Amino acid sequence: MYEPVWRHPKSLDEAVIAIADAGESGKVIAGGTDLAVLIRKRVSRPDVLVDLSAVSGHAEITIADGRVELGGLATHAEIAEHPIMRERVGLLAAACAAVGSPQTRSLGTIGGNVANASPAADSVTALAALDADVRVLSVRGERIIPIAGFFKGPGATTLAADELIAGVSFDLPDAGARSYYRKVGQRNALAIAIVSIGATFDPGTATVRLAFGSVAPTVVRARAAEEHFESEWVTSNDQPELVKAVAQLAVEVASPIDDVRATAEYRTMLVESLTASSLEEMCLRD
Ligand SMILES: Cc1cc2nc3c(=O)[nH]c(=O)nc-3n(C[C@H](O)[C@H](O)[C@H](O)COP(=O)(O)OP(=O)(O)OC[C@H]3O[C@@H](n4cnc5c(N)ncnc54)[C@H](O)[C@@H]3O)c2cc1C
Repeated sequence: MYEPVWRHPKSLDEAVIAIADAGESGKVIAGGTDLAVLIRKRVSRPDVLVDLSAVSGHAEITIADGRVELGGLATHAEIAEHPIMRERVGLLAAACAAVGSPQTRSLGTIGGNVANASPAADSVTALAALDADVRVLSVRGERIIPIAGFFKGPGATTLAADELIAGVSFDLPDAGARSYYRKVGQRNALAIAIVSIGATFDPGTATVRLAFGSVAPTVVRARAAEEHFESEWVTSNDQPELVKAVAQLAVEVASPIDDVRATAEYRTMLVESLTASSLEEMCLRD
Protein backbone atom coordinates (compact mmCIF):
# COMPACT_ATOMS: atom_id res chain seq x y z
CA MET A 1 0.00 0.00 0.00
CA TYR A 2 1.32 3.43 -0.98
CA GLU A 3 1.48 5.74 2.06
CA PRO A 4 3.62 8.81 1.41
CA VAL A 5 4.66 11.18 4.17
CA TRP A 6 2.73 14.43 3.81
CA ARG A 7 4.12 17.88 4.61
CA HIS A 8 1.77 20.87 4.82
CA PRO A 9 3.88 24.07 4.93
CA LYS A 10 2.07 27.33 5.65
CA SER A 11 4.57 29.67 3.99
CA LEU A 12 6.98 29.60 1.04
CA ASP A 13 9.89 29.64 3.54
CA GLU A 14 8.52 26.50 5.22
CA ALA A 15 7.83 24.95 1.80
CA VAL A 16 11.40 25.28 0.51
CA ILE A 17 12.73 23.77 3.75
CA ALA A 18 10.30 20.85 3.44
CA ILE A 19 11.36 20.26 -0.19
CA ALA A 20 15.06 20.42 0.70
CA ASP A 21 14.51 17.93 3.57
CA ALA A 22 12.59 15.54 1.29
CA GLY A 23 15.46 15.42 -1.23
CA GLU A 24 15.16 13.33 -4.40
CA SER A 25 12.38 11.18 -2.89
CA GLY A 26 10.02 14.15 -2.49
CA LYS A 27 7.61 15.96 -4.77
CA VAL A 28 5.56 19.11 -4.56
CA ILE A 29 1.81 18.77 -5.02
CA ALA A 30 -0.46 21.74 -5.73
CA GLY A 31 -3.90 21.06 -7.30
CA GLY A 32 -2.94 17.42 -7.89
CA THR A 33 -4.67 17.26 -11.30
CA ASP A 34 -1.54 15.93 -13.02
CA LEU A 35 0.30 14.28 -10.14
CA ALA A 36 -2.68 12.39 -8.70
CA VAL A 37 -3.20 10.74 -12.09
CA LEU A 38 0.47 9.68 -12.23
CA ILE A 39 0.30 8.34 -8.67
CA ARG A 40 -2.89 6.42 -9.46
CA LYS A 41 -1.22 4.92 -12.54
CA ARG A 42 1.89 4.11 -10.42
CA VAL A 43 4.06 6.17 -12.79
CA SER A 44 5.16 8.35 -9.86
CA ARG A 45 5.38 7.24 -6.23
CA PRO A 46 7.16 9.97 -4.22
CA ASP A 47 8.00 9.03 -0.61
CA VAL A 48 7.24 12.59 0.55
CA LEU A 49 4.52 14.89 -0.79
CA VAL A 50 4.94 18.60 -0.01
CA ASP A 51 1.40 19.97 -0.28
CA LEU A 52 1.47 23.65 -1.26
CA SER A 53 -2.27 24.20 -0.96
CA ALA A 54 -2.09 25.92 2.44
CA VAL A 55 0.83 28.23 1.62
CA SER A 56 -0.37 31.69 2.50
CA GLY A 57 -0.44 34.31 -0.29
CA HIS A 58 0.80 31.81 -2.87
CA ALA A 59 -2.39 32.12 -4.98
CA GLU A 60 -2.43 35.90 -5.26
CA ILE A 61 -2.69 37.78 -8.55
CA THR A 62 -1.08 41.21 -8.15
CA ILE A 63 -0.51 44.07 -10.55
CA ALA A 64 2.01 46.74 -9.55
CA ASP A 65 4.21 49.15 -11.52
CA GLY A 66 3.01 47.77 -14.84
CA ARG A 67 3.97 44.21 -13.94
CA VAL A 68 1.64 41.25 -13.35
CA GLU A 69 2.67 38.61 -10.78
CA LEU A 70 0.70 35.38 -10.60
CA GLY A 71 1.35 33.31 -7.50
CA GLY A 72 2.20 29.70 -8.32
CA LEU A 73 -1.04 28.47 -6.73
CA ALA A 74 -3.33 30.77 -8.76
CA THR A 75 -5.79 28.44 -10.46
CA HIS A 76 -6.82 28.45 -14.11
CA ALA A 77 -10.34 29.46 -13.04
CA GLU A 78 -9.07 32.41 -10.98
CA ILE A 79 -6.92 33.69 -13.86
CA ALA A 80 -9.65 33.15 -16.47
CA GLU A 81 -12.16 35.08 -14.35
CA HIS A 82 -9.88 37.90 -13.16
CA PRO A 83 -11.24 41.20 -14.58
CA ILE A 84 -7.82 42.71 -15.42
CA MET A 85 -6.61 39.49 -17.01
CA ARG A 86 -9.77 39.42 -19.15
CA GLU A 87 -9.48 43.06 -20.13
CA ARG A 88 -5.73 43.47 -20.63
CA VAL A 89 -4.28 39.95 -20.93
CA GLY A 90 -7.03 38.30 -22.98
CA LEU A 91 -4.81 35.55 -24.41
CA LEU A 92 -3.91 34.24 -20.92
CA ALA A 93 -7.51 34.45 -19.66
CA ALA A 94 -8.62 32.55 -22.80
CA ALA A 95 -5.82 29.98 -22.44
CA CYS A 96 -6.76 29.27 -18.81
CA ALA A 97 -10.45 29.07 -19.78
CA ALA A 98 -9.48 26.44 -22.40
CA VAL A 99 -8.00 24.04 -19.80
CA GLY A 100 -9.97 20.81 -19.29
CA SER A 101 -13.22 20.81 -17.37
CA PRO A 102 -14.52 23.27 -14.72
CA GLN A 103 -13.20 20.90 -12.01
CA THR A 104 -9.72 20.81 -13.57
CA ARG A 105 -9.70 24.60 -13.90
CA SER A 106 -10.70 25.16 -10.30
CA LEU A 107 -8.01 22.79 -8.94
CA GLY A 108 -5.21 23.05 -11.52
CA THR A 109 -2.66 25.80 -10.88
CA ILE A 110 -0.44 27.92 -13.09
CA GLY A 111 2.64 26.70 -11.18
CA GLY A 112 1.65 23.08 -11.83
CA ASN A 113 0.94 23.74 -15.50
CA VAL A 114 4.39 25.31 -15.96
CA ALA A 115 6.23 22.71 -13.84
CA ASN A 116 4.55 19.86 -15.70
CA ALA A 117 6.26 21.08 -18.91
CA SER A 118 3.82 19.63 -21.40
CA PRO A 119 4.37 21.04 -24.91
CA ALA A 120 0.55 21.27 -25.04
CA ALA A 121 0.14 23.23 -21.77
CA ASP A 122 -2.41 25.95 -22.50
CA SER A 123 -1.15 28.62 -20.10
CA VAL A 124 2.45 28.15 -21.24
CA THR A 125 1.64 29.06 -24.85
CA ALA A 126 0.16 32.37 -23.64
CA LEU A 127 3.01 32.98 -21.14
CA ALA A 128 5.58 32.42 -23.91
CA ALA A 129 3.94 35.11 -26.06
CA LEU A 130 3.97 37.42 -23.02
CA ASP A 131 7.73 36.88 -22.47
CA ALA A 132 6.98 35.82 -18.89
CA ASP A 133 9.59 35.12 -16.24
CA VAL A 134 9.37 32.15 -13.87
CA ARG A 135 10.28 32.95 -10.25
CA VAL A 136 11.91 29.96 -8.61
CA LEU A 137 12.71 29.54 -4.91
CA SER A 138 14.79 27.15 -2.86
CA VAL A 139 16.69 27.27 0.44
CA ARG A 140 19.59 28.51 -1.72
CA GLY A 141 17.66 31.66 -2.73
CA GLU A 142 15.67 32.96 -5.71
CA ARG A 143 16.19 32.57 -9.47
CA ILE A 144 14.30 34.41 -12.21
CA ILE A 145 14.21 32.34 -15.38
CA PRO A 146 12.83 33.66 -18.70
CA ILE A 147 10.17 31.19 -19.81
CA ALA A 148 11.94 30.70 -23.16
CA GLY A 149 14.84 29.06 -21.27
CA PHE A 150 12.78 27.19 -18.67
CA PHE A 151 11.88 24.02 -20.62
CA LYS A 152 14.30 21.31 -21.74
CA GLY A 153 11.81 18.97 -23.44
CA PRO A 154 8.48 17.22 -22.81
CA GLY A 155 8.12 16.93 -19.01
CA ALA A 156 11.63 18.34 -18.41
CA THR A 157 12.57 21.74 -16.98
CA THR A 158 15.60 23.49 -15.54
CA LEU A 159 14.07 23.20 -12.01
CA ALA A 160 16.36 21.47 -9.51
CA ALA A 161 14.83 18.86 -7.18
CA ASP A 162 14.83 21.32 -4.26
CA GLU A 163 13.23 24.23 -6.16
CA LEU A 164 9.61 25.30 -6.45
CA ILE A 165 7.84 27.79 -8.68
CA ALA A 166 6.86 30.77 -6.54
CA GLY A 167 5.16 32.55 -9.41
CA VAL A 168 5.27 33.86 -12.94
CA SER A 169 5.40 37.51 -13.96
CA PHE A 170 5.19 39.60 -17.12
CA ASP A 171 4.68 43.20 -18.23
CA LEU A 172 1.02 44.25 -18.25
CA PRO A 173 0.25 44.82 -21.96
CA ASP A 174 -0.65 48.40 -22.92
CA ALA A 175 -4.35 49.26 -22.94
CA GLY A 176 -4.33 49.44 -26.78
CA ALA A 177 -2.53 46.12 -27.26
CA ARG A 178 -4.39 43.17 -28.79
CA SER A 179 -4.05 39.48 -28.23
CA TYR A 180 -5.31 36.16 -29.51
CA TYR A 181 -5.49 32.60 -28.18
CA ARG A 182 -6.85 29.57 -30.01
CA LYS A 183 -6.61 25.89 -29.23
CA VAL A 184 -7.50 23.33 -31.84
CA GLY A 185 -8.37 20.06 -30.14
CA GLN A 186 -10.43 17.02 -30.88
CA ARG A 187 -14.18 17.34 -30.47
CA ASN A 188 -14.09 16.14 -26.88
CA ALA A 189 -14.31 19.31 -24.75
CA LEU A 190 -11.61 18.00 -22.39
CA ALA A 191 -9.13 17.36 -25.20
CA ILE A 192 -5.57 18.60 -25.03
CA ALA A 193 -4.38 20.79 -27.88
CA ILE A 194 -3.52 19.43 -31.33
CA VAL A 195 -2.08 22.90 -31.93
CA SER A 196 -2.45 26.08 -29.88
CA ILE A 197 -1.39 29.65 -30.60
CA GLY A 198 -0.89 32.58 -28.24
CA ALA A 199 -0.24 35.90 -29.97
CA THR A 200 0.04 39.58 -29.12
CA PHE A 201 0.14 42.75 -31.23
CA ASP A 202 1.14 46.16 -29.92
CA PRO A 203 0.02 48.79 -32.47
CA GLY A 204 2.14 51.45 -30.70
CA THR A 205 5.41 49.64 -31.46
CA ALA A 206 4.19 47.48 -34.39
CA THR A 207 5.48 44.37 -32.63
CA VAL A 208 3.96 40.89 -32.66
CA ARG A 209 4.68 37.81 -30.55
CA LEU A 210 3.71 34.36 -31.84
CA ALA A 211 3.92 31.25 -29.62
CA PHE A 212 2.76 27.71 -30.45
CA GLY A 213 1.90 24.67 -28.38
CA SER A 214 1.97 20.98 -29.47
CA VAL A 215 4.17 21.51 -32.53
CA ALA A 216 7.61 20.80 -31.02
CA PRO A 217 9.10 19.18 -27.86
CA THR A 218 8.44 22.44 -25.97
CA VAL A 219 6.21 25.47 -26.56
CA VAL A 220 8.02 27.55 -29.22
CA ARG A 221 8.16 31.16 -30.43
CA ALA A 222 8.23 31.98 -34.17
CA ARG A 223 10.95 34.63 -33.87
CA ALA A 224 11.89 34.87 -37.57
CA ALA A 225 8.22 35.45 -38.42
CA GLU A 226 7.92 38.10 -35.66
CA GLU A 227 11.03 39.90 -36.94
CA HIS A 228 9.79 39.85 -40.54
CA PHE A 229 6.48 41.36 -39.44
CA GLU A 230 8.22 44.08 -37.43
CA SER A 231 10.60 45.08 -40.18
CA GLU A 232 7.88 45.30 -42.87
CA TRP A 233 4.58 46.22 -41.19
CA VAL A 234 4.79 49.99 -40.95
CA THR A 235 6.05 50.53 -44.53
CA SER A 236 4.07 47.72 -46.17
CA ASN A 237 1.64 48.75 -48.90
CA ASP A 238 0.04 45.28 -48.97
CA GLN A 239 -0.56 44.24 -45.37
CA PRO A 240 -2.82 41.23 -46.21
CA GLU A 241 0.01 39.86 -48.39
CA LEU A 242 2.51 40.46 -45.54
CA VAL A 243 0.24 38.51 -43.18
CA LYS A 244 0.41 35.53 -45.59
CA ALA A 245 4.21 35.76 -45.78
CA VAL A 246 4.53 35.91 -41.97
CA ALA A 247 2.21 32.89 -41.62
CA GLN A 248 4.38 30.90 -44.05
CA LEU A 249 7.51 31.84 -42.08
CA ALA A 250 5.91 30.78 -38.78
CA VAL A 251 5.69 27.20 -40.10
CA GLU A 252 9.52 26.93 -39.97
CA VAL A 253 9.43 26.81 -36.17
CA ALA A 254 7.23 23.72 -36.12
CA SER A 255 8.74 20.23 -35.92
CA PRO A 256 5.55 18.35 -35.19
CA ILE A 257 5.07 14.61 -34.89
CA ASP A 258 2.34 12.24 -35.99
CA ASP A 259 0.42 10.94 -32.97
CA VAL A 260 -2.99 9.59 -32.07
CA ARG A 261 -4.43 13.09 -32.08
CA ALA A 262 -3.22 14.41 -35.47
CA THR A 263 -0.67 14.04 -38.26
CA ALA A 264 2.43 16.26 -38.49
CA GLU A 265 1.16 17.55 -41.84
CA TYR A 266 -2.17 18.67 -40.33
CA ARG A 267 -0.36 20.38 -37.45
CA THR A 268 1.90 22.27 -39.87
CA MET A 269 -1.11 23.43 -41.88
CA LEU A 270 -2.75 24.62 -38.65
CA VAL A 271 0.31 26.70 -37.69
CA GLU A 272 0.03 28.62 -40.96
CA SER A 273 -3.73 29.11 -40.85
CA LEU A 274 -3.83 30.01 -37.13
CA THR A 275 -1.01 32.54 -37.62
CA ALA A 276 -2.86 34.16 -40.52
CA SER A 277 -6.13 34.24 -38.53
CA SER A 278 -4.43 35.74 -35.47
CA LEU A 279 -2.77 38.51 -37.50
CA GLU A 280 -5.96 39.24 -39.46
CA GLU A 281 -7.93 39.58 -36.23
CA MET A 282 -5.33 41.55 -34.26
CA CYS A 283 -3.78 43.74 -36.98
CA LEU A 284 -6.20 44.10 -39.91
CA ARG A 285 -9.54 44.58 -38.10
CA ASP A 286 -10.50 47.89 -36.47
C1 LIG B 1 -8.98 15.68 -17.03
C2 LIG B 1 -7.79 16.61 -17.21
C3 LIG B 1 -7.82 17.55 -18.24
C4 LIG B 1 -6.74 18.42 -18.42
N1 LIG B 1 -6.81 19.32 -19.45
C5 LIG B 1 -5.78 20.18 -19.63
C6 LIG B 1 -5.84 21.13 -20.68
O1 LIG B 1 -6.81 21.21 -21.46
N2 LIG B 1 -4.79 21.99 -20.83
C7 LIG B 1 -3.69 21.93 -20.01
O2 LIG B 1 -2.78 22.74 -20.18
N3 LIG B 1 -3.60 21.03 -19.00
C8 LIG B 1 -4.62 20.16 -18.79
N4 LIG B 1 -4.55 19.23 -17.78
C9 LIG B 1 -3.33 19.16 -16.96
C10 LIG B 1 -3.38 19.86 -15.58
O3 LIG B 1 -4.69 20.12 -15.17
C11 LIG B 1 -2.56 21.15 -15.57
O4 LIG B 1 -1.24 20.90 -15.99
C12 LIG B 1 -2.57 21.81 -14.18
O5 LIG B 1 -2.31 23.18 -14.34
C13 LIG B 1 -1.55 21.21 -13.20
O6 LIG B 1 -1.60 21.96 -12.00
P1 LIG B 1 -1.75 21.24 -10.59
O7 LIG B 1 -1.72 22.31 -9.57
O8 LIG B 1 -2.92 20.34 -10.58
O9 LIG B 1 -0.39 20.40 -10.57
P2 LIG B 1 -0.05 19.08 -9.72
O10 LIG B 1 -0.74 17.91 -10.31
O11 LIG B 1 -0.19 19.33 -8.26
O12 LIG B 1 1.52 18.99 -10.07
C14 LIG B 1 1.94 18.74 -11.40
C15 LIG B 1 3.46 18.71 -11.43
O13 LIG B 1 3.99 20.01 -11.16
C16 LIG B 1 4.76 20.01 -9.95
N5 LIG B 1 4.40 21.26 -9.27
C17 LIG B 1 3.16 21.73 -8.98
N6 LIG B 1 3.22 22.96 -8.48
C18 LIG B 1 4.53 23.29 -8.44
C19 LIG B 1 5.24 24.45 -8.01
N7 LIG B 1 4.63 25.55 -7.54
N8 LIG B 1 6.58 24.43 -8.11
C20 LIG B 1 7.24 23.36 -8.60
N9 LIG B 1 6.62 22.24 -9.02
C21 LIG B 1 5.28 22.20 -8.95
C22 LIG B 1 4.39 18.73 -9.21
O14 LIG B 1 5.47 18.25 -8.43
C23 LIG B 1 4.08 17.80 -10.37
O15 LIG B 1 5.27 17.28 -10.91
C24 LIG B 1 -5.60 18.34 -17.56
C25 LIG B 1 -5.59 17.40 -16.53
C26 LIG B 1 -6.66 16.54 -16.34
C27 LIG B 1 -6.61 15.54 -15.21
